[in-house]
Amino acid sequence: MTLHEITYTIKDIQGKGKGLFAARDIKRGECILSEAPLVYVTSNLQEALKSIFVLSKKNAKYFYALCNVHHDISFEFGIMKTNSFPLGQGSTDAAIFRVSSRINHSCDPNVHQSWNPKTKKGHVHASKNIKKGDEILKNYIPILQIQEDRKRLLQENFKFDCRCSACTKPSSERDLIITKVNICTGLVKESAESDPATAIQYVREVLGLLDKIGGICKTSYYYDGYQISAMCSDYSLAQEWANLLLESYQIDE
Ligand SMILES: [Zn+2]
Repeated sequence: MTLHEITYTIKDIQGKGKGLFAARDIKRGECILSEAPLVYVTSNLQEALKSIFVLSKKNAKYFYALCNVHHDISFEFGIMKTNSFPLGQGSTDAAIFRVSSRINHSCDPNVHQSWNPKTKKGHVHASKNIKKGDEILKNYIPILQIQEDRKRLLQENFKFDCRCSACTKPSSERDLIITKVNICTGLVKESAESDPATAIQYVREVLGLLDKIGGICKTSYYYDGYQISAMCSDYSLAQEWANLLLESYQIDE
């Protein structure tokens, strides 16, 4: 591996365990890391437990060094519950990764983690330009929620009080934008079949709002734009949405 290919380093963070940091400037869209799962976590938890017990000594060391916030269950299940990443949207299968499971949370993330079922590898792409030395941060929960709801969800599931850049600023402006996004999202769904032109207008309104909070979470709206345009046979517009969708597919939600 050349020096240019090394994108991250793992460092200790006071009071936060370990975290990943950019080893050089990283451009939006770059793949920061790709890795096969350390452990698969399916609905058959006994099977998952067995796979931990047969890990090599080196991989077992990686597994047991991961964070566990669930002390009311066994240590292994606690690590699984804390670090599992779902393998695809809505999938009940999940996995734990050697490096990407170490990435800390932000409600204003700079990377996006995805799963490629063909290569059976997890990927982490930069969703923003990242400066050398900056911490690499992903989101553990859906982030298009108001600050109070995000904080509650993170406390319930990951037992920490979020102090990310979005949660340490006054919440009112960001919360108002997120509320408007969620209202417009409902209107997109309501009008998609009956009035596709209006639905597309709402999609564009949402994208404009998302630009005000760092251009996060746009992919699903590009997909809405594509579906609505294709549904009313506007194929040139559908193509434009498809291009945007392909461009952001791996780097955003
Ligand atoms: Zn936060």
